[in-house]
Amino acid sequence: MKRKKIPDEAVRRLPIYLRGLLSLSEQGYENISSKKLADFVGVNHSQIRKDLSYFGGFGTPGIGYNTENLRRQIRKILKLSMVHKAALVGVGNLGLAVLRYPRFGIFGFHIVAAFDNNPKKIGRRVGNITIEDVSNLKALQQRKIKIGIITVPCEAAQETFDKLVAAGIKGILSFSPCYKKGRKKVKVITIDIAMDLARLPYYIATRPTTRLAKRGR
Ligand code: ATP
Repeated sequence: MKRKKIPDEAVRRLPIYLRGLLSLSEQGYENISSKKLADFVGVNHSQIRKDLSYFGGFGTPGIGYNTENLRRQIRKILKLSMVHKAALVGVGNLGLAVLRYPRFGIFGFHIVAAFDNNPKKIGRRVGNITIEDVSNLKALQQRKIKIGIITVPCEAAQETFDKLVAAGIKGILSFSPCYKKGRKKVKVITIDIAMDLARLPYYIATRPTTRLAKRGR
């Protein structure tokens, strides 16, 4: 039987629900309605129900969702119930910030290795990780690392991308948009901070400058 195609957007929202559920459980909610979860995470409640229906629903009429059970189910769907080891390439300012971010663990992610090509950085320690030479990337498969994080500058992104793919990496989170697409077996998620910033002013109401001009300022 052909598996129903689940929209990427629905998958993208699951971690948002998971994070909301974590906070709601901490606040003592055993059961929650889709409306409560919707208000908490800022997504329309019918959207939440629709997204969850792709995976089986999980709610009980009149009661809503059991927070613990829904958390467990979402973790299972996202395959977050197992530990995922990740390697980061490019320990500059951005790479350091990502390496030091303490909350990936709650989603089962552990950055266990970091690489750079700058001899002054190789051998330095960041927390419990020692920065390695990029030539060690080849050994990622033996180390059972399947996720790569790219924080090198734009001009080094393609080369880094190719090295990670050659090393058997299955998923890449890239903070650099500068690489070619078309690797069918590798899932790439790009975070392009500049692109997100570029659309932000569109949503910000600006005061017409003519008003200021009228007041003679
Ligand atoms: P810094 O000035 O300390 O290097 P930065 O954030 O300004 O920090 P970037 O030029 O953005 O540095 O580079 C990010 C990191 O990527 C640096 O640590 C750099 O040494 C590393 N890097 C650059 N090219 C490569 C490469 N081909 N392979 C691995 N690491 C690289």
